[in-house]
Amino acid sequence: MVFTPREHAIKEIAETLAVAPCKEPELGNTQRSDMFGRDVFNMRAMRERLPKGVFQRLEQTIKNGAQMNPSDADVIASAMKDWAMERGATHYTHWFQPMTGTTAEKHDTFLTPTSEGQVISQFSGDMLIQGQTDASSFPSGGLRSTFEARGHTSWDPTSPAFLVSGPLGRTLYIPTVFYSYTGESLDRKTPLLRSEDALSHQCVRLMRLLGNTSVTSVQVMIGVEQEYFLVDRRLYMLRPDLILSGRTLYGARPLKGQELGDHYFGAIPSRVMAFMQDAEDQLFALGIPVLTRHNEVAPGQFEIAPVYESSNIATDHNMLIMEVLRTTAERHGFACLFHEKPFTGVNGSGKHNNWSLRDSNGHNLLEPGDTPRDNAQFLLFLAAVLRAIHKHPEPLRIGTVGASNDHRLGAHEAPPAILSVYLGEQLTAILQSIAGKKDGQYSWGNRTMEIGVSVLPPLPVDVSDRNRTSPMAFTGNRFEFRAAGSSQSVAPVNIALNAAVACALDDISSELEKAVAEGTPILKAVQDLLPRLFQEHEPIIFNGNNYSEEWKKEAERRGLPNYSDTVIALEQYNRPDVMNVFCSHGVLSERELLARQGILIENYVRTVSIEAQVALSLGRTAILPAALSWQKDLADLIISTRQALGDGEKLPEEELFRRVRRHTTGLIAALDKLEEAWNGLKGIKDHLEAARFARDQVLPCMRDCRTEADALEEIVENRRWPLPSYEEMLWLN
Ligand code: ADP
Ligand code: MG
Repeated sequence: MVFTPREHAIKEIAETLAVAPCKEPELGNTQRSDMFGRDVFNMRAMRERLPKGVFQRLEQTIKNGAQMNPSDADVIASAMKDWAMERGATHYTHWFQPMTGTTAEKHDTFLTPTSEGQVISQFSGDMLIQGQTDASSFPSGGLRSTFEARGHTSWDPTSPAFLVSGPLGRTLYIPTVFYSYTGESLDRKTPLLRSEDALSHQCVRLMRLLGNTSVTSVQVMIGVEQEYFLVDRRLYMLRPDLILSGRTLYGARPLKGQELGDHYFGAIPSRVMAFMQDAEDQLFALGIPVLTRHNEVAPGQFEIAPVYESSNIATDHNMLIMEVLRTTAERHGFACLFHEKPFTGVNGSGKHNNWSLRDSNGHNLLEPGDTPRDNAQFLLFLAAVLRAIHKHPEPLRIGTVGASNDHRLGAHEAPPAILSVYLGEQLTAILQSIAGKKDGQYSWGNRTMEIGVSVLPPLPVDVSDRNRTSPMAFTGNRFEFRAAGSSQSVAPVNIALNAAVACALDDISSELEKAVAEGTPILKAVQDLLPRLFQEHEPIIFNGNNYSEEWKKEAERRGLPNYSDTVIALEQYNRPDVMNVFCSHGVLSERELLARQGILIENYVRTVSIEAQVALSLGRTAILPAALSWQKDLADLIISTRQALGDGEKLPEEELFRRVRRHTTGLIAALDKLEEAWNGLKGIKDHLEAARFARDQVLPCMRDCRTEADALEEIVENRRWPLPSYEEMLWLN
């Protein structure tokens, strides 16, 4: 028997699974802890290898942002090179995060030829600090004119350099920022660093007002939970839609999906476990403190989360986690999918961003304290976050835009595009009572909170499990933002969150400073301000079910905007009040913002356009031929059956034939309409207009093609179907 490609893949998978190795673990926890950070030029390596004075000055740069001493750069570069070469590095690269959403790198060797025909290793301070790259192929939204194609990269000493292994050697990766000749940011790291500074500045300003004289800076801490799918590579290779657009553009509902809930937190399949352990060992060596692993809701879906770190490093680490998962999956015969919605009808993937603020004394500003004064501070920071989300939902919403995340947000598995904050009953009741409302349900609700005198009742830490539907949930000592997409960098949501909270703190401090200048004692001023803040921003608090239809109506009544898709969200980007959130604290300039808006819109159009082409090609050259050949066989069968029976009786096969034919002709017509729409899209010059057209014309045409094709998949002979089915991709691992 000749196997079809699908049958061949399945046979091979069956053989692999039958011999899945189960070796004795090689690394116990002791060795693993020795391994942690082995491939990172971290503080310990620097302390060991740098002259004391150089190390101390560099530490000041890293911890407090002090200007770097240029003469130190040569010393640091040389130590870094020696460290890397001793570990097998042959090349180095400035590693950056252009607006493509992924990372970029160009490798250079350490070896330079000499006049005597030999080579010597060389790596100067200049080479460490600054790089130049041909940036003409990276999106710049018009920030870089064609005659000035150069982009520049510049070392970010706050994120440590690390080694990545290739098949025949290692490369030293140096995290950098990426900017144009005119100094404008072309990446996502620069605005993230700027937003951290702006927020730190505003936090310290408020804390000084409250009488704290010791805090010098505040760090944003984030913990990023990453969801992903694993699909056997042999099946993946037979799905051009997965390869080219990251999601299945066709595919009938699986015969078994997640309805039994038997995958979530279930036993991890052994082949997947081997992959996870391999990836975790590599991540450990890269100094990434991976913490948890588990099965997610959908079959074939998993999650990994590291311990939280400062937001710049955690963002870099999340990019690295994705890269390590992707390459490790390949080696284990899987494809790792980060798309938000690779499969219709089962849950998609998100990336939860746990966010908190830590002052230079190590205190979490979102943790209710033990003293009245700590509580006043906690309530002010809480109020600032509420104000940020209530007054500035657009920046945060824009942080999650993208054609792929549109398939997930607002579905019954992910928060809606409407932003609200979950605080839990108890904290909500406290805020209501501060706001002067006596209808708080919680027993504490009838007492009045006297700022600077009362102590908050103990709050349960991690109340998150009570509401998994909120886009932004307070979980006892941090906020968990759940709307980011699994394929996205978390930089944009953190840039937006930091900038918006900086604006809110700025408003709060300005009011308090004014009151104090007029002679009001600070705690009295806080006591006067908090009720007003909580009254004003109460509408942003919602503890109910965010997936419900009623919430949409209720949110509208409360005046909360619903930017339901990427295009609507991006249309808000150049509103003066939205741009001001970024501009007023120097996070992004007006020109940089407009460039980003342009890039994101263009990216949306390109994504839909690629999907349309793949859908067209697959529909016409793979699905339709299979369906037509089945249709023809049925026709032949009917003719020969009629001949054999020799009478005019109606045959049951005819109904089957008609059904197949109804969907093949339907598919032919739908594909023609899709082609027409795609041609229409190509003709539109204005990007925003093209984006609207892609959303309103092209995507619906793709859905129509899919409806017909999926109906065919359910009735055409299984052997003929060219694409691996949902159940094969979801369950064969
Ligand atoms: P869950 O799935 O219940 O949300 P996880 O354990 O999967 O919880 O993930 C929680 C994430 O939140 C981890 O990355 C963890 O390190 C992070 N986290 C914990 N405390 C803080 C904090 N104070 N600030 C930021 N992130 C935090
Ligand atoms: Mg979570």
